[in-house]
Amino acid sequence: MQKVRVPISVDPVKSAGKQLSYLGLIPGKNLVRLQELLVEACPDIDAQIHFDVDEQGIKVIRGHAEVTVVVACERCGDPMILPVQCDFVYAPITKRQKATDMPEEYEPIDLDELGEVNLHQIVEDELMLTMPVVPKHDEQACRIKADAMQWGELDPSAEAKENPFAVLQSLKRK
Ligand SMILES: [Zn+2]
Repeated sequence: MQKVRVPISVDPVKSAGKQLSYLGLIPGKNLVRLQELLVEACPDIDAQIHFDVDEQGIKVIRGHAEVTVVVACERCGDPMILPVQCDFVYAPITKRQKATDMPEEYEPIDLDELGEVNLHQIVEDELMLTMPVVPKHDEQACRIKADAMQWGELDPSAEAKENPFAVLQSLKRK
């Protein structure tokens, strides 16, 4: 099945009334703020967005997005493959639904002058929030740590000196 492009801006109140869903792509090249964190071009993002009305009658935007990007490891500087994904629930702020009336798990969001929200921007914000502040390879995979471990193996006596049992052994002998 060919994926469609998720629209940039939609009216979330109307969309919720119609319970619209989008399963599609967001072009990675449009997400310039996210791109600034990456060392390779951002691939297209897989996104699922559902507009709904919850049991309390609150109109919500539920979404999931995922993409695998390449960032620089902060420890060794080499490129690092980083899968990122996010789940979110936003509720548009309108005359009828105020931020203070919403459950805590909903992120209140203002509408623009056309009464719309920017879905690409929401997904970009959410993905950026889930990115690690200091991305690092797993210790086994990182070049720097691998080097450090080799050094450690060259000097096994360093550990023996600090062994508390060695102290006990010497006490017993006295
Ligand atoms: Zn690394």
